[in-house]
Amino acid sequence: MDCERDKIVEIFGDSSLGECLGELSGIYSQIESETDDFCRSHNIHCTGGCGTCCEHFVPDITPAEAKLVAAYLLLVKKDIELINRLQQPNGGQCPLYDRDNPFHCQVYPVRPLICRLFGQCASRMKDGTAVFHRCKFDGGRNMPEELVFGPDSGVRTMDEYGIQIHALDSGNSDTTEDLDIAVTKALNEVAMVASYMGILGRPSNDDDDSTPTPTPTPTPTPQAS
Ligand code: SF4
Ligand code: SF4
Repeated sequence: MDCERDKIVEIFGDSSLGECLGELSGIYSQIESETDDFCRSHNIHCTGGCGTCCEHFVPDITPAEAKLVAAYLLLVKKDIELINRLQQPNGGQCPLYDRDNPFHCQVYPVRPLICRLFGQCASRMKDGTAVFHRCKFDGGRNMPEELVFGPDSGVRTMDEYGIQIHALDSGNSDTTEDLDIAVTKALNEVAMVASYMGILGRPSNDDDDSTPTPTPTPTPTPQAS
């Protein structure tokens, strides 16, 4: 497991939010391990420093994924400017992308499913074969152009991971929304639970705990309404 995700899961303990985030984090760990193996086995590498896939793209994410990003922003990142960026039009670019930061993604440990799979995973065709296509932005041609695997190859595909993630929201795949909208909504819920549990604004002896107080200024009004 990623230690920053562990920290969030631990904070929310055995609350229903904590259980949901714990399950999601477990699936992400499994995906990290399996996509690493897949990429290593087939010599798939992104071009160093590339982040083009985030530049003209806002990912669709599930409510559970949005809650994990919201919890990360509120309790780990603690970056009000970044939270406010969710409400600012960004020309169709992910609001959590930072071109000037070498790591680009500002929520990397909790990035949603599609960001984990793009350029790293095969897709299932109607005839059951799994096909991997090179990312069109891979200017360095660091990936094989195409890989095809038979239906019984055991290669995991995007749709299989998607089913696992949607199961956390009762299997309802109609609940995905653009990241900025979904996370803005989730910030309200996560801040409310955290306040109720005494996490936000709680006096602490832990020197490292500079968690913002519950002034949910960091929880802007959902854009969708
Ligand atoms: S969440 Fe991160 S990885 Fe995904 S599109 Fe935004 S910046 Fe890119
Ligand atoms: S998936 Fe493609 S665009 Fe995204 S970082 Fe890798 S090479 Fe770049």
